[in-house]
Amino acid sequence: MAKKKQFVVIGLGRFGGSICRELIKIGHEVLVIDKDEQKVSDFSNIVTHAVVANSTDENTLRSLGVRNFDFVIVAIGDNIQESILTTLLLKELGIKNVWVKAKNDYHHRVLEKIGADTIVHPEKDMGRRIAQQMSDDKIIDF
Ligand code: ATP
Repeated sequence: MAKKKQFVVIGLGRFGGSICRELIKIGHEVLVIDKDEQKVSDFSNIVTHAVVANSTDENTLRSLGVRNFDFVIVAIGDNIQESILTTLLLKELGIKNVWVKAKNDYHHRVLEKIGADTIVHPEKDMGRRIAQQMSDDKIIDF
């Protein structure tokens, strides 16, 4: 098994939720943060810590000790402004591994400028992977 690490997942939409479930399955420790109480309560039984909070609040991030985690994943999709502000605060707190979901190219460029460590485009990345899998010679179509 992979070495146990500590993760923070911010935003429990389909993407953040799926990341969270997989990390737990692998055996990692996960803190989830979402401003939606229902989403947090849906995950409270499976994760190590689940908190209802707004990630754009610097004091909240400090008091949750987010700095002490190995990785933070910002999985806020629709609200680009909150995604950017959250990422900025995380980088200012000194977090080394901040992964962020980008909605479009402009979002990507801003995230890059403010120091996001890894930027992902789930639909685009998955589309590319599936195309590669479909064109893989090893797949025999009967
Ligand atoms: P997906 O496509 O993965 O379902 P999405 O791209 O539609 O997600 P959103 O619905 O925008 O993404 O956000 C995902 C989650 O992030 C939601 O549960 C929302 O409550 C949460 N969220 C958004 N902004 C914040 C914030 N500032 N602090 C905490 N949680 C937030």
